[in-house]
Amino acid sequence: MNALKRYLNSFLLVELLRGLIVTGRHLFARKITIQYPDEHTPVSPRFRGLHALRRYPNGEERCIACKLCEAVCPAAAITIESTQRADGSRRTKRYEIDLFKCIYCGFCEESCPVDSIVETSFYEFHFEKKGDNVITKEQLLAIGDRYEKRIAADRVADAKYR
Ligand code: SF4
Ligand code: SF4
Repeated sequence: MNALKRYLNSFLLVELLRGLIVTGRHLFARKITIQYPDEHTPVSPRFRGLHALRRYPNGEERCIACKLCEAVCPAAAITIESTQRADGSRRTKRYEIDLFKCIYCGFCEESCPVDSIVETSFYEFHFEKKGDNVITKEQLLAIGDRYEKRIAADRVADAKYR
């Protein structure tokens, strides 16, 4: 029976007709042209773009150097070295992400217990020199400081989908 159905579908060009119907639907639909970079299409709050390290409102960095993100990263893109502060707390002295290795899977932010490492919805970045692809702790914190408002808003919007 299945063989007969397949034969008839193939003989009557059913798949082709289905494809043409989809093409026809889009042929007469309203066209949308975005004048990038002056205009942008909306970006999902879940978009996984450039990484950032966040701080608490008092300015203290969130990261506690637990290294979960380093352990979970499937691309081995994260390198962390930790140290102990005078007050006994543990912090990173080195936190680097190689963005050439990164596959933007989002596992690092999923694993972080303190919401420190995040992937922002910022996607317009590039590298100009060899080595720029390795992004340092200072750079990650600076990105976090710069985009904190957007990061916080994205996380509130994202929570509605969960
Ligand atoms: S997004 Fe994925 S691949 Fe990239 S640093 Fe995070 S865990 Fe690693
Ligand atoms: S960013 Fe988060 S998961 Fe990674 S070491 Fe810091 S606290 Fe741990």
